[in-house]
Amino acid sequence: MTTIVWFRQDLRIADNPALFEAAAEGEVLPVFILEDADRVGDTHPLGGASHWWLHHSLEALRGDLGGLVCLRGDARVILPAVVRETGAGAVYWNRCYEPHAVERDSTIKAGLKSDGIDARSFKASLLFEPWEVETKAGGPFKVYSPFWRALQEKSVPEPLGAPERLELASGPAGEDIDDWELLPSRPNWAREFEAAWQPGERGAMNRLRKFLKEGLENYGSLRDRPDLANVSRLSPHLHFGEISPRQIWHETKRLNEHPSDTGKFLSEIAWREFSHHLLYHFPEIPSKNWKPGFDAYPWRDCPEDLEAWQRGQTGYPIVDAGMRELWRTGYMHNRVRMIAASFLVKHLRLHWQHGEAWFRDTLVDADLANNVAGWQWVAGSGADAAPYFRIFNPMTQGAKFDPDGTYVRKWCPELKDLETVHIHAPFLAPDDALAKAGVKLGQTYSKPIVDHAAARKAALEGYEEVKRANDSDA
Ligand code: FAD
Repeated sequence: MTTIVWFRQDLRIADNPALFEAAAEGEVLPVFILEDADRVGDTHPLGGASHWWLHHSLEALRGDLGGLVCLRGDARVILPAVVRETGAGAVYWNRCYEPHAVERDSTIKAGLKSDGIDARSFKASLLFEPWEVETKAGGPFKVYSPFWRALQEKSVPEPLGAPERLELASGPAGEDIDDWELLPSRPNWAREFEAAWQPGERGAMNRLRKFLKEGLENYGSLRDRPDLANVSRLSPHLHFGEISPRQIWHETKRLNEHPSDTGKFLSEIAWREFSHHLLYHFPEIPSKNWKPGFDAYPWRDCPEDLEAWQRGQTGYPIVDAGMRELWRTGYMHNRVRMIAASFLVKHLRLHWQHGEAWFRDTLVDADLANNVAGWQWVAGSGADAAPYFRIFNPMTQGAKFDPDGTYVRKWCPELKDLETVHIHAPFLAPDDALAKAGVKLGQTYSKPIVDHAAARKAALEGYEEVKRANDSDA
């Protein structure tokens, strides 16, 4: 029997349950379908940086499998058509959790089943399905710590290997990935991505092994330092499913070294689980404040400030360095994501959805669940979020987490000769220190677009509106 394996966010061969089962039963026809977001009701489509990654990841998968039928259009129409054309008896896939994907997949499953096709979905992207981790009362968790405790009480199954035998069935020729124009040209803004990343299953495993060897030790104490290499950078590989969280979990545990760093690292993998848990159980969170009181927040509308933030020209070096790292490499360190996001939402008082959309377009690891949870956490509107009144000071955050200014100097080279004492607040430096470093504020580097103290005060005043709305709801 031929089974179609529909690849989506599981672009790997090892520990791929849909592929494993299909290969054990007979011939496999691997298929990938590129959907046009607006035609299929995807309101939060991935953007340019993710497309760059997808192109390379599909190429890697096609090479590793020895063939992959790539098609473009509506999966609800394409899959039944491929079934008819090939006479396949089954279609298997691994589950996704974005609201539009859940709806689409149930429609497809029901349709195929009513045609007598064996349609099955599997767990591959998470350690546990969102419905497998429950509160004692039987509902979803809304707070991370008890979720993490409940997760640790469960046993994470060992990953499957690669299928022992993989026989490919013949099928439609499919399209040439190059014709999809997923890679940017004119200009090629992703030029520097090549050196930073190796999309594909091999790249993912290399990244994990390198991190376990060189970065895991002291992860707990150094993971907040953007100037050091103590984070894994596995996020895009995880998003595209080039590696599974089960593989990461067991490889890390097998190492059996640095127990507290291991615990901390796995607790971050559990944040990813928690974000997906929230998105699955509360599918409205991409477009709505989790805490409705935040609907009353008096957001500003200021395209100039938004653009200054996007371009890394706010005049606050740690924010600008992060935004430029993002643009140049498709990645931003987690601590800097928090600082830059907080700056947008609190200092500039621009809606978190502007930031979510920009990150979704520019991050290679853009992931609806993690991105929305991250933004709502920072904004204070989310489940188990940072309290709104805790407003990051970009100068002290910079000095604490980039103490020598190495990270800022790397991404804002116009400040590289500034003494460390001034690096996170050039606008407070005396004229002779600026002149010595060749910095001309407003010319070589931006003046601050807002005053920190005034912005903080305005943000807190805005929060009073939220409190008033909450009081009147109570
Ligand atoms: P590591 O520290 O090595 O962590 C290992 C893995 O754990 C990560 O790859 C990731 O899968 C998971 N993880 C770590 N921190 C978090 C977290 N806070 N929330 C959820 N999962 C986490 N992550 C994304 O994958 N995609 C996004 O679109 C995304 N958007 C974000 C937006 C904002 C505003 C914020 C504050 C955070 C966002 N994050 C997002 C979470 C986090 O910043 C990244 O997962 C992390 O920086 C990825 O780097 P890493 O792989 O080196 O992390």
